[in-house]
Amino acid sequence: MSEETKFSVLCSLFNWMQRSKTSTLKRSKFRKFLDTFCKPADYFDSIRLILPSLDRERGSYGLKESVLATCLIDALGMVLQRRQGVSSGGLTIKELNDLLDRLASSENRSEKTSVLSTLIKKTNAQEMKWIVMIILKDLKLGTSEKSIFHEFHPDAEDLFNVTCDLKLVCEKLRDRNQRHKRQDIEVGKAVRPQLAMRVGDATIAWKKLHGKEVVVECKFDGDRIQIHKNGTEIHYFSRNFLDHPEYGHAMSDIVIQNVLADRCILDGEMLVWDTSSNRFAEFGSNQEIAKAARDGLDSDRQLCYVAFDILYVGDTSVIHQSLKERHELLQKFVKPLKGRLEILVPNGGLNTHRSEGEPCWSLIARSVDDVERFFKETIENRDEGIVLKDLGSKWEPSDRSGKWLKLKPDYIRAGSDLDVLIIGGYYGSGRRGGEVAQFLVGLAERAVPNTYPRRFVSFCRVGTGLSDEDLEAVATKLKPYLRKYEYPKKAPPSFYQVTNNSKERPDVWVESPEKSIILSITSDIRTIRSEVFSAPYSLRFPRIDRVRYDKPWHECLDVESFMELVHSSNGT
Ligand code: ATP
Repeated sequence: MSEETKFSVLCSLFNWMQRSKTSTLKRSKFRKFLDTFCKPADYFDSIRLILPSLDRERGSYGLKESVLATCLIDALGMVLQRRQGVSSGGLTIKELNDLLDRLASSENRSEKTSVLSTLIKKTNAQEMKWIVMIILKDLKLGTSEKSIFHEFHPDAEDLFNVTCDLKLVCEKLRDRNQRHKRQDIEVGKAVRPQLAMRVGDATIAWKKLHGKEVVVECKFDGDRIQIHKNGTEIHYFSRNFLDHPEYGHAMSDIVIQNVLADRCILDGEMLVWDTSSNRFAEFGSNQEIAKAARDGLDSDRQLCYVAFDILYVGDTSVIHQSLKERHELLQKFVKPLKGRLEILVPNGGLNTHRSEGEPCWSLIARSVDDVERFFKETIENRDEGIVLKDLGSKWEPSDRSGKWLKLKPDYIRAGSDLDVLIIGGYYGSGRRGGEVAQFLVGLAERAVPNTYPRRFVSFCRVGTGLSDEDLEAVATKLKPYLRKYEYPKKAPPSFYQVTNNSKERPDVWVESPEKSIILSITSDIRTIRSEVFSAPYSLRFPRIDRVRYDKPWHECLDVESFMELVHSSNGT
């Protein structure tokens, strides 16, 4: 069995998993599927469909929601013309993967439409629904990739973290009972980055790192990029382990010359340096400047890579060495080039100055006052925030346990930037009559470690800040998941906590948090105590800063973190 395993079997698994309430149940269904319907040699065929966002074997489909919708409508038209009520045609997992390969490699819309029409012919509506979710790379099964990995093989997550290669994981770990020797990182294979834990204020941060030797660094607002150098072959891997060759035009020659090791992995931030204002440019222009460099256009702005860590030198991984030792290696092996390639090490390194009279982007903190001072300068300099790091710590793939802590002024100042989840919608009037024009957003109830939040607390109502186009895009995306709320007959979904105050009652609810979208909101005035919303505080004059399609629903700010921010900014 397996080559012939029907996609409908996988769809049944999806349906089961989506319906099962607990993670244990979801995992046991997944295990049963693997044991009953897959041969070890074919694990990858199925797992790439279960974790589509981690699959890098197939190129991008070139189908964002709106294009996919158009192609699907055309494809449906093609199919309906020829088919009269025929039921689905028993597509196998293997056939599906072949067709998805064709979909990714086809270059124009008509070819894509033709592949989609083949898919429609060979499936029923349920199966097609799952295929669309696979193409959009988000199955919303209510289970984490961590769970899938753990159920598949106890070493799967570790191996994926250091290779970002799903195919390799499926092939190497076919036997669940055979443990895999811990694998180190390799040049040319993206590694899942070490991450930072968010904290509310400098005192909390200082306490968390009690007794450790601590470095505080500026939190640069660019693209997290790993540079992998292997002789003259250079890769630029982003956080989602995609290679970005477009950075090569501006950077590769510099990397080849100024990184003094033949094989090396640097970890850092890709930014744009503005030579006329002598500042890093605000987030968002990397791609434009990379293109300008490719086209040989003259500009005051140039790409600048700030290396804050080094993970591999020569022929060995150095992630097990302390950060202090890695800083020494950075200094030894990277020759900085002003405004193009910089290194971030305490009390020096970076050639570019932070601001007049304040040359330092990184320093060893001896007391909480040092941290406070550095943080204050950050706010004054309008930088994104600071990162505190334990100098004795090793670099660990995908770790967010607190070796690195981030502190952002946004969270605690007026004008703060909060990532909240849309939980309901209000209809507009006039131009947006009958369409959702404002949102009810919520904060998460803090989840137990390693699980997703289960409840969301209503927080505030927000409508302004987005362009009409962006607002419409969010409303359209949510539309299929909106449910009417007929108070008092029908209570809101149980995973939302709300008050009985009629002012906050939205017209529609998002039927489940997993289907929703995160918004970054800001507010001019401080928080206010709230009786209308369920969270103890709300925001005055909130405004949507941007839509965070890149943040999954479960990374919504939680009530406790929010309260810490409120207390720290109120000085209580
Ligand atoms: P955010 O939305 O706050 O940027 P995130 O979820 O993208 O957070 P985190 O791991 O929480 O990522 O924060 C670390 C990120 O901060 C890194 O991915 C990196 O892009 C960025 N960063 C900027 N400067 C530094 C620095 N000096 N050290 C480490 N990370 C830094």
